[in-house]
Amino acid sequence: MGEQVHTQPSFIAVDAGSHFPLQNLPWGVFNRKAGGRRRVGVRIGEWVVDMAVLQARGFFNGPCLQDTAVFDKPALNDFMALGRPAWQEARAALQALLAADTPTLRDDAELRTRVLHPLSEVTMHLPTVIGDYTDFYSSEYHAANVGQMFRPGDDPLPANWKHLPVGYHGRASSVVISGTQVVRPWGQVLDADESQPCLLPSAELDFELEVGFFVGPGNVLGQPIPIGQAEDHIFGLVLVNDWSARDIQRWEYRPLGPFLAKNFATSISPWVVTLEALAPFRIPGPAQNPAPLPYLQTANITYDIQLEVALQSPTMAAPHVICYTNYRHLYWNAAQQLAHHTLTGCNVRPGDLLASGTISGPAPGMFGSLLELAWRGTKPISVGQHETRTFLKDGDTVTISGWCQGAGYCVGFGQVEGKIVPAQAAIKE
Ligand code: MN
Repeated sequence: MGEQVHTQPSFIAVDAGSHFPLQNLPWGVFNRKAGGRRRVGVRIGEWVVDMAVLQARGFFNGPCLQDTAVFDKPALNDFMALGRPAWQEARAALQALLAADTPTLRDDAELRTRVLHPLSEVTMHLPTVIGDYTDFYSSEYHAANVGQMFRPGDDPLPANWKHLPVGYHGRASSVVISGTQVVRPWGQVLDADESQPCLLPSAELDFELEVGFFVGPGNVLGQPIPIGQAEDHIFGLVLVNDWSARDIQRWEYRPLGPFLAKNFATSISPWVVTLEALAPFRIPGPAQNPAPLPYLQTANITYDIQLEVALQSPTMAAPHVICYTNYRHLYWNAAQQLAHHTLTGCNVRPGDLLASGTISGPAPGMFGSLLELAWRGTKPISVGQHETRTFLKDGDTVTISGWCQGAGYCVGFGQVEGKIVPAQAAIKE
């Protein structure tokens, strides 16, 4: 893959093993802790490049960006709407500006002070104003595990599963940035030996390891996105934790699917990694049998993204890794998800978030939820030396990491992290 790797280092020192070398350059929204409004930034090493300042000073004068002010905005929606030529123009300009042999920024102390902010001096925010959030169910291993648990004796996969990417319309308002605490939700649950439901804080709170993508240019209502054009509508990827309350889900999900069990919080990582940065890590996806209908037929490309989940309670000295898997285990790819989502003419808009569904691999240590790791509460897993878990306890912090390993460098997502805090004291009955 030599020709795709920029061996030229940046003048900004980046640690070996960092998720954020010059090859990555992911996008986010930040403001300075010292003050100032939210604007667009790009990460390199432990620094945030202030794109609003660079644009104001005329550094983006290519045909797509010269007459815009898309970086002095509190969200990436406007930049995402411009499409791939604009994204590539910005990336090329940044890679040139940050290269070791480019003196423009390297040798201008005043400009460096205005443009480069230490990561420790900024606060990250949601990358976009998320108009709509959709969650799929695209890991065959996850779907089969859930099928075995909830419908023992039946086929593990529903009859439709290999013909279409199953999904549901989620809740955009409760998508939160990494680091946001998650309050244990109350809900209706039906205990096993009861005939009537009761109102309780969820006792089966879970995480879901997922990867989502942000929509770039949208489509006009009534006009589907053809599968061959789907990638042009995908800006980049983030890590997603789709928190789920299994006891609430089990009672409420028939006949329309998850509702309150998944609407209280969905956490995402702050840095959006572009398809350009991920290009060296494209690999063939799993064989699809039976062949999907023509509107879902594609080159079947996915990405080799290593994924890890760690759990830490307040009494544990260090996070304990409980799952290690890979994005490649998804059966349906992002292009197929987007083509299917818009088949009816449903319009997606710039900044919309579409998540993969829980990503489980073939072996037990590769399951992307506690529901599966502890097999519906029947096989508690060990976390650290003294503790076990079937579901999450108050005080638990769940951290998902993701990265692509290149030859001598890494393109990563950083982390999405969230801590469970106790339920509200009482809900009026
Ligand atoms: Mn999910």
